[in-house]
Amino acid sequence: MTQTELPPASASAPSFFGMSRDRLRRHVLGLGLPGFRAEQMYSWVYQKHVRDPLEMTNLPLAFRRSLSGVCDFALPETASVLRSPDGDTHKFVLRLADRARVESVSMRTPRRLTFCISSQVGCALKCSFCATGLMGLKRNLRAEEIVAQVVAMGEFHGWRDDRFNIVFMGMGEPLANLAAVVESIRILHDDHGLNLGARRVTVSTSGLVPQIRELTKLDLQVGLAVSLHATTDELRDELVPVNKRWPIRELLDAAREYGRSVGRRVTLEYTLIGGVNDSPEDADRLGDFARELPSKVNLIPYNPVPGLAWKRPTPAAVEAFAERLYPRAPAVTVRQTRGGEIWAACGQLGGLSPE
Ligand code: SAH
Ligand code: SF4
Repeated sequence: MTQTELPPASASAPSFFGMSRDRLRRHVLGLGLPGFRAEQMYSWVYQKHVRDPLEMTNLPLAFRRSLSGVCDFALPETASVLRSPDGDTHKFVLRLADRARVESVSMRTPRRLTFCISSQVGCALKCSFCATGLMGLKRNLRAEEIVAQVVAMGEFHGWRDDRFNIVFMGMGEPLANLAAVVESIRILHDDHGLNLGARRVTVSTSGLVPQIRELTKLDLQVGLAVSLHATTDELRDELVPVNKRWPIRELLDAAREYGRSVGRRVTLEYTLIGGVNDSPEDADRLGDFARELPSKVNLIPYNPVPGLAWKRPTPAAVEAFAERLYPRAPAVTVRQTRGGEIWAACGQLGGLSPE
């Protein structure tokens, strides 16, 4: 290391977690440093899980000492971590630099660890049954704030798991923040970094058709989940207001194209709300839709949200709906509700906490 390798001190170094390896390489080159420092930093942070520059022992000491001026390795502060009684679900509240709060959830089953992450603070789409929708949109998250959620949860779990899945099913509509979401997926995917396979990532959308088509073109190979929740436009207009812009037919067409293009089944998410969308006729129509495209149906019994009058169907009603659907749809699963006790279940993110 020569004196010329010393980066200039900077008061506001960019976040490491928002930089693709390529961008980091350009950043270090721009500071007059050798480009391979980018690979070394990626390896320390994402593979050896070391964020303190002084501990990055194969880097020259003078460089380590000045590294905090190259980029910022800090994660947002963890404001709270709530643990479910069975210990398998954790809800994290991260406090961002502007004090906005963002929620993420980790869920462990015997077979896998899944991180459910947020893409926005709040959401503009105002689905009538969702806690996040009640908040309205505060702002989009930046790529670094999306990647940081994954790193914070990985660190919390001590990076014990060599594999995990990611679902964009936390706060916000990921396709309304497509550029940052795609950038975060690329960073997480890097084989010099966390090396998260595209098949381990699922993006859930309430149905932004043009962005689904854009995602198809990007050919990222990630899983797509579509929040259907109704089998008639009349009801879907009420539950998922964005349906007025892109009705069921257009949504299914875009989803079919996505599924065919990436060679993966699209998940049709269907939140079952008692007496609203759980009739036998709904099950029949849902089965017809499901057969139209390469799909699997994921039934989500409604998770109650304070202030909203929607009800979860009885277990018998969920069972009856699923039984009617099984012979009509190629694949059906019922989502086990996780984290309800800590307000961490689907649709419950948005500043709710246990009393
Ligand atoms: N904005 C995206 C992803 C976040 S929500 C989307 O809407 O798809 C993840 C899933 O939970 C979506 O299918 C959403 O419709 C559903 N959901 C929202 N509120 C819910 C609730 N209270 N109970 C059950 N599912 C809910
Ligand atoms: Fe937004 Fe998804 Fe909630 Fe609808 S269900 S308000 S799109 S987060």
